[in-house]
Amino acid sequence: MKMRADSLDRIHYFAYNSFVPLQARTPPPVTFAVNPPEGAALHAAVATRLRDMIVEGQLSAGSRLNERVLAAALEVSRTPLREAFKMLAGEGLVELLPNRGAVVARMGTAEVAAAFDVIGALEGLAGELACRHITADELAEIRALQFDMLASHARRDLPGYFRANMRIHALINAAARNPVLTETFARLNSRIHATRYRSNLTQERWDHAVAEHAEMLKLLEARDGAKLRALLESHLHRKRDTILALFAAQPAAT
Ligand SMILES: [Zn+2]
Repeated sequence: MKMRADSLDRIHYFAYNSFVPLQARTPPPVTFAVNPPEGAALHAAVATRLRDMIVEGQLSAGSRLNERVLAAALEVSRTPLREAFKMLAGEGLVELLPNRGAVVARMGTAEVAAAFDVIGALEGLAGELACRHITADELAEIRALQFDMLASHARRDLPGYFRANMRIHALINAAARNPVLTETFARLNSRIHATRYRSNLTQERWDHAVAEHAEMLKLLEARDGAKLRALLESHLHRKRDTILALFAAQPAAT
């Protein structure tokens, strides 16, 4: 059960706290002390902090994880830091390169496409299961977020839109009541989070996504698992295609 609680916390953490506005990425804070809960391993707490910094874009893809700077910022020694790098390497968030140390992993086009295919399947499954298990309160929460999302869309407030959008997807995932799904989703989502929730959208694509979300809510209310599954998969496939088009238009800096 611990896994479920942790991963739900993670998803809710994404949903409520992790958004960084498009133009407001900040460098790593100067001091960012890690205080693990009693009994927890320090390196795991360090890994959690670093994971959040990567997911939030404070440590961007391709950047080197400077041991000296991070040890000072997190107020830890290098040993737990290195252990944390290894943990994150196991999750695919960090690459350990001979002679260069640890680098935030950068996903290539093919890998991004593959990750979105899997996330699409996971979201589809979550939608189908959520139709079976979602409560009236959870539905009410999603309905309220749908209003927030429409308001952000009307105001052309992209960060606000992504924030509501991300919470809706996280709530559908939580309503699936499947801890393995939630854990797998959280792990993969942390790798594509910055791409998924910070890329620009054309007006046309944005309008379309909003219409898809209205349909999602209707299908959830009707508890039509099969249709919601198909819709969520195609919603994510369209997101994948939007992102791949952006990649093609703006090749990653080397
Ligand atoms: Zn969405």
